[in-house]
Amino acid sequence: MMIVMKPNATPEEIEHVVARISSVGARAHISRGEEVTLIGAIGDREHVARLELDGAPGVAQVVPILKPYKLSSSQLRGGEPSVFEIAGRRIGGEHFALIAGPCTVESRPQLLETARAVRDGGAAMLRGGAYKPRTSPYAFQGLGQAGLRLLAEAKEEFGMPIVTELMDVRDLDAVLEVADVVQIGARNMQNYTLLAELGRSGVPVLLKRGLSATLEELLMAAEYILKEGNEQVLLCERGIRTFETAYRFTLDLMAVPVLKQLSHLPVVVDPSHAAGRRDLVGPLSYAAAAAGADGIIVEVHPNPEEAICDGPQALRADEFAEYAANVERAAAIAGKVFTHA
Ligand code: PEP
Ligand code: MN
Repeated sequence: MMIVMKPNATPEEIEHVVARISSVGARAHISRGEEVTLIGAIGDREHVARLELDGAPGVAQVVPILKPYKLSSSQLRGGEPSVFEIAGRRIGGEHFALIAGPCTVESRPQLLETARAVRDGGAAMLRGGAYKPRTSPYAFQGLGQAGLRLLAEAKEEFGMPIVTELMDVRDLDAVLEVADVVQIGARNMQNYTLLAELGRSGVPVLLKRGLSATLEELLMAAEYILKEGNEQVLLCERGIRTFETAYRFTLDLMAVPVLKQLSHLPVVVDPSHAAGRRDLVGPLSYAAAAAGADGIIVEVHPNPEEAICDGPQALRADEFAEYAANVERAAAIAGKVFTHA
């Protein structure tokens, strides 16, 4: 349920409503807007209804949150988008963040060279996987802890926040030592115990849409993180499976405006994994930015021909600055300003 307070409601009246909500074991989520305060009552609907808050002092009206996801719903913030500040970089609302780096951390020179290029080119954060979800169990699985140490070195040297993937909850502490944002890969979008654990950790999460997940399933997955008290979830569209075979996945750009209608959470687009091919990454990125995405996560490599994984889709490090300038122009079409390092 959503309790809409009157514009002149007093702090005591707001406190009273919160206390009543808590008294039935539900959680109150307060959102203070310019005009009115909204209080989301998250819990058993019957219990909250029985409180009959309609007549309580300071309450304007009580409206049900009709979607099955509550904390990720745009209704929770009265249609206002969430803006997160991650290690000084803003994302959401009018702020656009470009996240770039290699698919996987391979070596010190590879990572540091990429980090320098993407930082100089205007990326806000550095991506790089130390733990990789590979289709084949025989393929390179990532450098693990050694990869995390290299990411820490890059963070120190270039002052960039780090986005890196977590697959196994047993690696959580090690990942949290370096990650400013933890990426949950498409294949783990419905690993609910992992999501809940990240919810409890409080670290910002980049949650990728599953290969064949609906937007509602994505938002329900986000709900698992939010429910534990972690408010910083970035939704990521990275391409879905369709009948089309001409490219790796189909980038669902309609998801951008639709997710932004359904949810207050920032929406990031990953053109690299959708395309699987470098030549498509530019056009898809510009379209995503112009469509109102709050960020892009893109793969970059100093020498894609020699990349251990995802080389064909990686942008060349020496071409990154030109690409980033084009993304910045496209983002401006949607009224967004670039978050710089
Ligand atoms: C990745 O970001 O390198 C990755 C494996 O992405 P996804 O989970 O979207 O396939
Ligand atoms: Mn990759």
